[in-house]
Amino acid sequence: MEPCSGRAEMLWSVAAGRYKLRSMADTIFSKILRGDIPCHKVYEDDHVFAFLDIGPLSFGHTLVIPKEEVTTIDQLSDESAAAIGRVLPRLCRAIKAITGIEQLNILQNNGPMAHQAVFHVHFHIIPKPSIDRGLVMEWSSTKLDPAEGAKLAAALSREIGG
Ligand code: 5GP
Repeated sequence: MEPCSGRAEMLWSVAAGRYKLRSMADTIFSKILRGDIPCHKVYEDDHVFAFLDIGPLSFGHTLVIPKEEVTTIDQLSDESAAAIGRVLPRLCRAIKAITGIEQLNILQNNGPMAHQAVFHVHFHIIPKPSIDRGLVMEWSSTKLDPAEGAKLAAALSREIGG
């Protein structure tokens, strides 16, 4: 993958073949939060803001962002995470009720290789009206080796303190 250009270049640098976060910048979502640029607002509380995506993959495609300005999900505070977790199901119910579309995907991208284009944490709620509309993805699964899996799960569990 080529190094990123434009805004992404300010935020990420390629070091040893891996993208590394450099700093958080003022993003288009900060401007939306401040009211500097318009959006179609769907929901707001003390921690969370939701609005329609300007380039919807399907009717009802909505973005849910924390007011906390961080780039990726691992940087998000427990308080913001809890607030988003509380409101996501409610937003999904509203989107289902209004669009009449029963199925949906929630997508959350972190980093340019993972298709993140706006470097302010956000969740997409994307209604799935048909096989070829909404989120279309290739799911290239592999097979988990049981011994590797046991080691990995134990390491992750130690790391998270669970
Ligand atoms: P990402 O690829 O970072 O997960 O998704 C960013 C999303 O933000 C895209 O779906 C894009 O259409 C949306 N977006 C980018 N700029 C704006 C904007 O100015 N207003 C709104 N409403 N959505 C935007």
